[in-house]
Amino acid sequence: MNDDTEPPLPDRLRQLLSARRFEHITVFSGAGMSADSGIPTFRSGDNGLWHTHKPEHMATPEAWKRDKELVWAWYEYRRHFVMAAQPHPGHCAAARLQQALGAAIVTQNVDDLHERAGATDVLHLHGSLFTPLCAACHRPPAEPLPPPPLEVQQQQQQRLMPPTCQHCGGYIRPGVVWFGENLDEAIVNQAIECIRRSDLLLVVGTSGLVHPAASLVSVAKRNATIIEINPEPGGASGRMDFQWRVTAAVGVARIAQMLNRPLKKCSSNAPGS
Ligand code: NAD
Ligand code: ZN
Repeated sequence: MNDDTEPPLPDRLRQLLSARRFEHITVFSGAGMSADSGIPTFRSGDNGLWHTHKPEHMATPEAWKRDKELVWAWYEYRRHFVMAAQPHPGHCAAARLQQALGAAIVTQNVDDLHERAGATDVLHLHGSLFTPLCAACHRPPAEPLPPPPLEVQQQQQQRLMPPTCQHCGGYIRPGVVWFGENLDEAIVNQAIECIRRSDLLLVVGTSGLVHPAASLVSVAKRNATIIEINPEPGGASGRMDFQWRVTAAVGVARIAQMLNRPLKKCSSNAPGS
């Protein structure tokens, strides 16, 4: 377990954070944000039953057309996996930054860990595992989905027929934006607005490879302070004032502390809520 007070803030980062009072803060998170909760990023690779399937090949409209039972089972497994995970101190720190300082949270993640740490109004650029919809008429199912079947949870079954829509009989699909699909324009515009007016932008756990989300960082104004939190180099590119090679759980919590708002203990909600 990480001690979220370690390591100390690098001097240059401390200077940047104490140089001015930030009025508009945005946390921009990618898959690495949830890595410390045990949720694999696309680039870290999954294991078990799914190791033969590249995530990038499953998360496409073509994969759905080709084999919707395979794709639905994969998403149901991922939904289960997320429901069993817990937010970490970095998620809690981001939620506290929102509550205490009005920070915006823009995420590429399809999990609900920001929300379960207490954040509200999270802008999900790529949708959510928890908002399925009809592939034909785009309406949500009349009833919430039951928990994924045990065989899928336990990776003993790799195919599952998706439920059908009560309105039109179409298949229910995951409420995520697949590679090759357009992002929701209203959400993108809100995200652009948040990033554009930010004077502090925290870019957490994103490889910067998935567009157009990755290019949103470039709309930040010239005098904004932009800090990357990522243990690996080669992450989000573009203008960064500081690249802190640290995990999200440690980095976001330390920065939030530095912004001088003591963090309350995280109280996460029930999984899947
Ligand atoms: P990515 O998988 O391309 O890259 C992940 C980044 O996280 C890498 O740069 C890696 O160095 C960094 N990272 C790894 N461990 C970290 C840690 N402990 N703390 C901070 N950073 C860490 O992810 P991406 O850039 O978000 O784009 C890929 C797509 O994958 C997105 O569209 C996203 O929706 C999807 N995705 C989402 C989830 C999720 O919802 N949790 C999980 C996997 C993939
Ligand atoms: Zn329908």
